[in-house]
Amino acid sequence: MRGMNVLACCRWARLFPAFLAFAIGAIPIQAADNVIALKAERMFDGKSKTLVKNAVVIVQGDKIVDVGSNLAIPSDAQVIDLGDATLAPGFMDAHTHLTLDYSGDYNLRRLKELDLNVSEQAIIATAHARATVEAGFTTVRDLGSRFVGSREFVDVALRNSINKGVVVGPRMLVATKGIGATGGHFDPTSGFRDFLFGREPDYTDGIIDSPDDARKAVRFEVKNGADVIKAAISGGVLSLADEVDTPQLTPAELAALVDESHRLRKKVAVHCHGDQAALEAIEAGVDSIEHGSFMKSETLTRVKNKGIFLTPTLMATEWIMSKLENYPPALQAKAKAAAAARSEMFRNAVKLGVKISFGTDAAVFPHGQNAKEFKLMVDLGMTPIDALKSATANDAELLGIGQKVGTLEKGKLGDIIAMPGDPTSDITATERILFVMKEGKIIRQGPPTVQRAAESTKSSGDVVEPAD
Ligand SMILES: [Zn+2]
Repeated sequence: MRGMNVLACCRWARLFPAFLAFAIGAIPIQAADNVIALKAERMFDGKSKTLVKNAVVIVQGDKIVDVGSNLAIPSDAQVIDLGDATLAPGFMDAHTHLTLDYSGDYNLRRLKELDLNVSEQAIIATAHARATVEAGFTTVRDLGSRFVGSREFVDVALRNSINKGVVVGPRMLVATKGIGATGGHFDPTSGFRDFLFGREPDYTDGIIDSPDDARKAVRFEVKNGADVIKAAISGGVLSLADEVDTPQLTPAELAALVDESHRLRKKVAVHCHGDQAALEAIEAGVDSIEHGSFMKSETLTRVKNKGIFLTPTLMATEWIMSKLENYPPALQAKAKAAAAARSEMFRNAVKLGVKISFGTDAAVFPHGQNAKEFKLMVDLGMTPIDALKSATANDAELLGIGQKVGTLEKGKLGDIIAMPGDPTSDITATERILFVMKEGKIIRQGPPTVQRAAESTKSSGDVVEPAD
């Protein structure tokens, strides 16, 4: 009897992933080593300056085994012909907050974040992850996950669950808590009554007030699973107790933070709207500047010369400006100032040849709409090919994963998407993804379930954190 039970148990263990996949939303089950040949009229390979015609990408297991124009297709391959479409490497977003949603009414959201328990917020985050990958974003750098009054690491849990195949979502590099100063953009208690939460936040919440605190916070975050370190070094738009462009860490705190992160082989992304804070960030040797709204041309030149990436997050200000009535008057004024400055800053960055990484600040707007950033970039002077490159090869370089993803090349992981028509003549094709494959597994072929995910998020309530 005992033996039979073990056998029955093993059978269930084998069947369980299939049942789980069905329950989560019909992930296609594929044999581990089957060969798939993807065909389309065009391909953006992540490297070339023009699209490749009559594209074929052959995938076996989780890897690309061949790629080119008019390739012979192996007789045992499953052929997926996408017709008048463009294949591309899976898009990346270097600035998301998958565990959060602050796209709705600002004051309502602040009340809701006190009501929802963190477990419910984590479950909602799985819908954000699915919406993101179904929109063609197979990798994200997730820059901060914080719930007021909680010390959970929801972003680490989400990343790990995606890696284990339990949750459908993009590959995630996570930052855990953003690091910032008392009363600064990342202080989760800013704008609430004093001592409402019983104590002042400390390094375990990412809040620091000395170089030693900075090192301790970095060590604490890496210990708890951070892949990248995020710091708020200037004020932000969606925080109540600061001005948008003031510096918020001292040069000594920033130097300690960057030094400790680099010693632990972690890159540093800084939330920074102000020009003075940007100059200090360049001096400290950060890896990317997020937003950068008020950066002057001379500052951008220094960003370029140091090889630092700029992650412009145009979608964030675009969304806030389109929904100004959702925000208190003080935040409206900050948003207007940032929006007025950022277009000229972005045009200058393109002209100067600054390395631009694609990042949106998803969570400020509903998850799954990340690709709308492409049109904003092109409207402000970037070529469509360069915009596509920013979301693929550039982001892969910034994230330090360029040897595995970011281009369609032999030996790279099978992260491949397809969009209708030709994105170089209509960049909004990026918003209508037809097909998504991640590590050789088909995530989506046909209509997305993104709408369903967005609706479920809406009805469950918006969540959390002072954002950007
Ligand atoms: Zn952000």
